[in-house]
Amino acid sequence: MSTITWIGLGHMGAPMSANLVAAGHDVRGFDLSEAAMAAARQGGVQTFSTMGEALDGAEVVITMLPKGEHSRAVYLGEDGVLALAPKDALLVDSSTIDVATAEQLHRAASEAGFAFVDAPVSGGISGAAAGTLTFMIGGEEQHARRAEEVVQPMAGRVVHTGAAGTGQAAKIVNNMMLFICLEACSEGSVLADRLGLDPRVFWEIASVSSGDSWALQTWYPVPGMTDSAAANHNFDATFSATLAAKDIGLALAAGEQTDVNLPAARLVAERFQELIDEGLADKDCSLIAKYAAPDGAIPGWDPDKA
Ligand code: NAD
Repeated sequence: MSTITWIGLGHMGAPMSANLVAAGHDVRGFDLSEAAMAAARQGGVQTFSTMGEALDGAEVVITMLPKGEHSRAVYLGEDGVLALAPKDALLVDSSTIDVATAEQLHRAASEAGFAFVDAPVSGGISGAAAGTLTFMIGGEEQHARRAEEVVQPMAGRVVHTGAAGTGQAAKIVNNMMLFICLEACSEGSVLADRLGLDPRVFWEIASVSSGDSWALQTWYPVPGMTDSAAANHNFDATFSATLAAKDIGLALAAGEQTDVNLPAARLVAERFQELIDEGLADKDCSLIAKYAAPDGAIPGWDPDKA
């Protein structure tokens, strides 16, 4: 049993940390949101009103924060992890952030004498709850091995991707592919509907045909097809449009840096931006399905109840 400090107890952090509690670890949590901390307490996490208190006695620190700017604040701030965590703690950043920030955190952690890995995950909140996430771990071999052991109760697969920042690189490319598949499901679900197909009949055909994908199985934007879809709950976020826009933006920035053409990614980025511009930033990213409908009306979406 280890003492693990968890910072960032949102959609992902709460169920992930609950799996560490279930595996017998002592988990000390902190989040800026009291509501997030209350949800984490349901999963057995002990919460604290300051990050400093939560870091007391930590053998491992895991962060699950929205963006690079939050990871920088939490690690590098005056009252941050590098200033306050015990020096022998292993630091694991599971947030999805840009490669440059991940590399900056590796350097700063190493200069401060810490073992650090970038360890973003794939699998969504359903994978977080089930403990079947894929972890992509970038960093030195011995640190990656330590991290692999710690994340086991939350993981289906753990892959050491290579040097510092490569976990984030793998995650960014993977998510770009996911969002392009989501756009395919969005257009496909509306076209199938307008062609008069029964949604269940079509979804079952695609599930065993060449149209299958993780997005189809997990996020298909039609209610009643797959339990984990936001469409079942008026598109309340499992993965918000804001976070999706952030991730596809990371891919577009990486494309610019490497001179790679990414027209499909650019299109999906525009769709997420449309949701944000409409004031729907906190709704689920799969709500982009409504842009395939000429009138914006899709089953499962009631804007009056948003
Ligand atoms: P979220 O917004 O639900 O949770 C993030 C939490 O971090 C919030 O509760 C917020 O209050 C907290 N936070 C922000 N700044 C903080 C600070 N300075 N100190 C303490 N807490 C702070 O986001 P999420 O959906 O849990 O995603 C977290 C990360 O995981 C993101 O980088 C996201 O891209 C990635 N991710 C999400 C999913 C998903 O399906 N939701 C899947 C894989 C990866």
